[in-house]
Amino acid sequence: MFPRRRFLQGIAALAGAPALALPLSGCVSAPGRAAPHVVVVGGGFGGATAARYLRLWSEGTVRVTLIERDARFVSCPLSNLVLGGSIGLDDLTRSYDRLRDDWGVTVVRDEVTAVDAAGRTVTTASGARFNYDRLVLSPGVDFIPGAIEGLSPGDERVPHAWKAGPQTALLRRQLVAMRAGGVYALHVPKAPYRCPPGPYERACVIADYLRHANPRAKVLVLDANPEIQSKKALFTAAFAEYKGLIEYRPNSDLRAVDGATRTAELEFERIAADVLNVLPPMRAGDLARRAGLPLINERWVDIDWLSYEARGVPGVHVLGDAVFAAPGMPKSGHMATQHARVAAAAILRLLAGEAPDPAPVVMNTCYSFVDARRVIHVASVHPFDPEKRQPVPVAGAGGVSAVASEAEGEIAWTWARNTWRDMLG
Ligand SMILES: Cc1cc2nc3c(=O)[nH]c(=O)nc-3n(C[C@H](O)[C@H](O)[C@H](O)COP(=O)(O)OP(=O)(O)OC[C@H]3O[C@@H](n4cnc5c(N)ncnc54)[C@H](O)[C@@H]3O)c2cc1C
Repeated sequence: MFPRRRFLQGIAALAGAPALALPLSGCVSAPGRAAPHVVVVGGGFGGATAARYLRLWSEGTVRVTLIERDARFVSCPLSNLVLGGSIGLDDLTRSYDRLRDDWGVTVVRDEVTAVDAAGRTVTTASGARFNYDRLVLSPGVDFIPGAIEGLSPGDERVPHAWKAGPQTALLRRQLVAMRAGGVYALHVPKAPYRCPPGPYERACVIADYLRHANPRAKVLVLDANPEIQSKKALFTAAFAEYKGLIEYRPNSDLRAVDGATRTAELEFERIAADVLNVLPPMRAGDLARRAGLPLINERWVDIDWLSYEARGVPGVHVLGDAVFAAPGMPKSGHMATQHARVAAAAILRLLAGEAPDPAPVVMNTCYSFVDARRVIHVASVHPFDPEKRQPVPVAGAGGVSAVASEAEGEIAWTWARNTWRDMLG
């Protein structure tokens, strides 16, 4: 657990002032020396959680500025249900007001364009500059430009809908407008990508919609991977329930796309779809590259798993989908919130002149809908292994659902509401 009292004493010594009994909200600065300042970039699962826990665990003695380019948070988890039509994007949208009003986080709507790690400043698109003592980056993923010939991630004829928002609504409209008996084709990129079970959940939820709205239609899952990447037996069973509607094709490497004809060119065949949904190959959010952080495979940020600092870049902590994942660790919202807690605790210890916790543990649960109500889950536990210097999953901990159920559907919603509250206050 995070040693809050020791941290508060450490900060008090730094600032030359008594630490306790400070208000939780509002920016606190002690006489003689400014309160430490942590800038967090990205108000998604990782960044928002880090911002709130830095304020919570420091009892308001650390100033936190959250810089996020979007006005409101829209959850990717559950966004496949928008495609199935059982909910709308509003059901997944939350504001940052509570982080600001109840937790004293300074929320800035802007885009960070540059990081000067040596000078400990970030610059934004509007030209503002922020000094920091510690910087947290949780920029999520961006798509690799030019990875698939003919594909531009902004092309509305071939949406990705892999960042919840306008593209989710666009893909829903395309599905509703699809001709009777049309083909919806979904391309899954080679792992690692954001949310391993997400594409298979999407195929099921869309098939569930189509079997009522367009029963002669077809869902074609073109997977660049050799097999289903998560909850394989459960998704195989779910696909069997949609026999004749879902067709799953592994090893379907996508070479090129023609937006005008909605054609996918695979290694040995061309597939013309009525609705073509391509998840482009992904890498750490572009900010990681702009910040000059160390990347593994040119894609994911290499971090120290105790402090979550980018290797060789002291003071810059990276979370969530952007990091090069440890073995068995999914790129999930749940996992990003776990990274955020460990990083927040490490930052507070470092600010107090202490070493980070030497034995952090993170865990994950991912729920997937197989129709509008029934859900399956996978869970895992990942303690830090001191010899391997990274988290390693505990064999036998966690596991998967026995079968899909509506009871788990309710739990999935409870997980989502609790998580949004935990992130955003
Ligand atoms: C269809 C789908 C279903 C999913 N289902 C689940 C699920 O059931 N459970 C689960 O746990 N996970 C799920 N996920 C995965 C989950 O959404 C991600 O793993 C999670 O969002 C990662 O959190 P993050 O903080 O790394 O990135 P994000 O949550 O994407 O946050 C990144 C934020 O940074 C902002 N940003 C980026 N660059 C800048 C910049 N330069 N300046 C300012 N702001 C910036 C972005 O606007 C964004 O708000 C799903 C994903 C998808 C696509």
